[in-house]
Amino acid sequence: MIADVVIAGAGPNGLMLACELSLAGVRPLVLERLPERTRENRANGLVGQVVRMLDRRGLYERLTGNQGPPPPAPGFVFGALPLDLSALDDNPLYLLQVPQLRIERMLEERAAELHVEIRRGHELTGFTQDSEGVTLQVGGPAGPYTIETRYLVGADGGHSVTRKLAGIAFPGVTTDETIARTAHAAVPAGLLDPVSGGLDIPGYGPIPPFMHHRTERGLFVYAPLPGGPAPLISTMEWNGQDAEGPLTLAELRASARRVLGADIAFGPPDGQGPHLMRKLNGGNTRLAERFRDGRVLLVGDAAHVHSAIGGPGLNLGLQDAVNLGWKLAADVRGTAPAGLLDTYESERRPAAERVVMSSRAQSALIAPGSEVTGLRALFAELLGDPRNVRRIADLMSGADIRYDVGVDHPLAGRWAPDLDLKDGARLAELTRDGRPHLVDFTGGDWGYPATAALPGSAVPCTALLLRPDGYVAWASDVPRPDAESRASLRAAIQRWLG
Ligand SMILES: Cc1cc2nc3c(=O)[nH]c(=O)nc-3n(C[C@H](O)[C@H](O)[C@H](O)COP(=O)(O)OP(=O)(O)OC[C@H]3O[C@@H](n4cnc5c(N)ncnc54)[C@H](O)[C@@H]3O)c2cc1C
Repeated sequence: MIADVVIAGAGPNGLMLACELSLAGVRPLVLERLPERTRENRANGLVGQVVRMLDRRGLYERLTGNQGPPPPAPGFVFGALPLDLSALDDNPLYLLQVPQLRIERMLEERAAELHVEIRRGHELTGFTQDSEGVTLQVGGPAGPYTIETRYLVGADGGHSVTRKLAGIAFPGVTTDETIARTAHAAVPAGLLDPVSGGLDIPGYGPIPPFMHHRTERGLFVYAPLPGGPAPLISTMEWNGQDAEGPLTLAELRASARRVLGADIAFGPPDGQGPHLMRKLNGGNTRLAERFRDGRVLLVGDAAHVHSAIGGPGLNLGLQDAVNLGWKLAADVRGTAPAGLLDTYESERRPAAERVVMSSRAQSALIAPGSEVTGLRALFAELLGDPRNVRRIADLMSGADIRYDVGVDHPLAGRWAPDLDLKDGARLAELTRDGRPHLVDFTGGDWGYPATAALPGSAVPCTALLLRPDGYVAWASDVPRPDAESRASLRAAIQRWLG
């Protein structure tokens, strides 16, 4: 069997990469160890630029039914401290509350439309590579077999077999002092606060919904997910005693009592399950030393793991997949300019480093103890300044990412702003095909077929070259193209598109 690209892992990031490769004209083969899709949900939402990225592929509409652009969030939290985003100009933080299981189902449907072959119950067990390709050993329902491929991408999660077999180190820290307990549970009706949608607990006070609520003894979250089977209740404690065996509601109740100092008589959730009963001891923060070893690449959790606080995982992983897809496809098609595939690591590893930094900082801010209470008070003061709120919102969304594209224009290397096109469409509708675009605001002649846009960018700009992943490869503010600006556009096209 011969395939151009094999992806190990049909989690969200492997599926997204498969869709991107297909859009770019390369049909990958996806191997998934599990015989059927998991029923255990992990993420409950998407946070950041990824929401706009899904909009630019028409996938936001599939998840929400909304055709218009996603609205930015009026507020969010950083390290269990509220962020008021309502005063920000061009607020960069977008949220989409949707279970990971639904995202995976939607991506699998999209992959099927794009004729991606997904082999369930087929596990990558080994590989060897040389300068021509990779030979994979696979364990399938009918026994072991081999596949010849030009590239292998490990999208096989935090315990990535691909990463281990490639000998890519995964340095970082593993902590064992936390116990996080999460369950769907019914809450006594008398504790519900219909005004805030949160809880009002006698002996403790109000608890707003969907917020990490920190005390000096731990963390408590009440999340009445829309359409969910029952509210999701979470606690986190430090240096606590783990009760033996699987999580029970009695154990969750005892943990909430220790954290809040007040009792909540949780009951079993109504309705059909599966109901989450999850206990996680400790956690890992690790970043792959390299994202590539010859013809083997890593995306998503295979390349980076960190605390789930602030929900950065899929913002990072799905954008890894979109960054890699068009570059790998160009390489396979033989049209990639020299060094293009190397920019996957040089662009995405720094993005992962920032997420590691942000999640470590948030983990410090939610820890128990009076010193942390002091640190939080200071941080809360700093968040009184909208410039600091902006900075945190940029960090959490990934809007502060600026790839090195070698062009001196404020938009160059950045996520392209949403633009209204001359035919009444939005830029996000134009980009659903995953192709590069030259966008012309002047009607001027740049010498290439261009998409006409209405002037409206906050930054002076008369034309921009959009990469398939939604980032600006080149931009100009000259009113009419001259020899110099034409040469710089030509250089950008050669650099990114060959
Ligand atoms: C409790 C929790 C809450 C979270 N909450 C959020 C949140 O709110 N927002 C957010 O953005 N992120 C959240 N995350 C992070 C998010 O769930 C992960 O980042 C995401 O699942 C990573 O996707 P992935 O495709 O890289 O890996 P995975 O989802 O781990 O998928 C990897 C796939 O590879 C398969 N596989 C493994 N080995 C092999 C092999 N050898 N051969 C073939 N297949 C293989 C596995 O079966 C699996 O299907 C949370 C994570 C956790 C644990």
